[in-house]
Amino acid sequence: MSLGGTIAAERDPNVARGVTATLAASDLVAGTPQIAEVAEVTTVALRQMPSGDLTFEDLAELATLVSSLYDEGIDGVVVTQGTDTLEETAFALDLLVPTSGALVVSGAMRNPTTPGPDGPANLLGAVRVAATAAARDLGALVVLGDEIHAARFVTKAHATRPHAFASPNAGPLGWLVEDRVRLVTRVKPLVGFTPRPGPAPAVALYRCSLGDDARLIGEIGRLGYDGLVVEGFGGGHVPGRFVAALSELATRVPVLIASRTGAGEVLHDTYGFAGGEIDLAARGLLRVASLDGLKARVALTLALWSDRDHAAQLITSLSEAVAGEC
Ligand code: ASP
Repeated sequence: MSLGGTIAAERDPNVARGVTATLAASDLVAGTPQIAEVAEVTTVALRQMPSGDLTFEDLAELATLVSSLYDEGIDGVVVTQGTDTLEETAFALDLLVPTSGALVVSGAMRNPTTPGPDGPANLLGAVRVAATAAARDLGALVVLGDEIHAARFVTKAHATRPHAFASPNAGPLGWLVEDRVRLVTRVKPLVGFTPRPGPAPAVALYRCSLGDDARLIGEIGRLGYDGLVVEGFGGGHVPGRFVAALSELATRVPVLIASRTGAGEVLHDTYGFAGGEIDLAARGLLRVASLDGLKARVALTLALWSDRDHAAQLITSLSEAVAGEC
């Protein structure tokens, strides 16, 4: 299933400069003839857009389609899309698609008009993984650069180089070499969310930074968001001058505290200052363990969309499951 992105991008004579997503899934498969030796493939062109234009509604539609294909007996699904939001879309699909077949999301960093495009190799690798029985029951996977990542851990860690994806907290689950798929680690599938009818809730993401005078954080509560994720300093801290606005907001909507560092997890019981993790928890903010801000925002959006009354509990159990509570 193709959604657009660099893997599908070419020069369009109607656009003055640069490439745009024009190729469909059938073009991508036709351009990678080795796929025929690996699997019998059916293609669906769903969207042709930059990944920053995708919405949660697009992903819910895609998830429904994937589930119906599993019901029809398809062994695995590959989704190709832009890499800019891939760490978010793959995690959303992880939470939206009930585990059954293998689900692999992939893309490319170099478009087909550049020397050394990585799209065909990534697509072939993604099909190989999707056709592997051992890749089922792992939730959504991300395959790029011959590495297999769990959607819950992966992040885009470089703006341009082909090896752009990494899983800082866990490393990849496996790799591809020649025609072999290697899975050296397994994760348990996560409990899924089923969106209710209607539009996706609006969840804001705010990153803490040095010297912020709190004028924007004070404004967020007046903008009608259904929830907020704060990427705090280090182990999950905010400036003391944020505390009043966040405490007030947390009485109305879920407010999550993540770490802006990109790895590790939010603390529980170490710092006692105003704006530290103990203070924020006492004021009703929810810690999200090792989920980063982007993934916490995906999780909160889907939790609110599925079961607004129990969103806080859903987030807490999901974030503990991702962190691998023993
Ligand atoms: N640079 C992006 C990509 O890798 C563009 C996008 O996300 O659509 O596909």
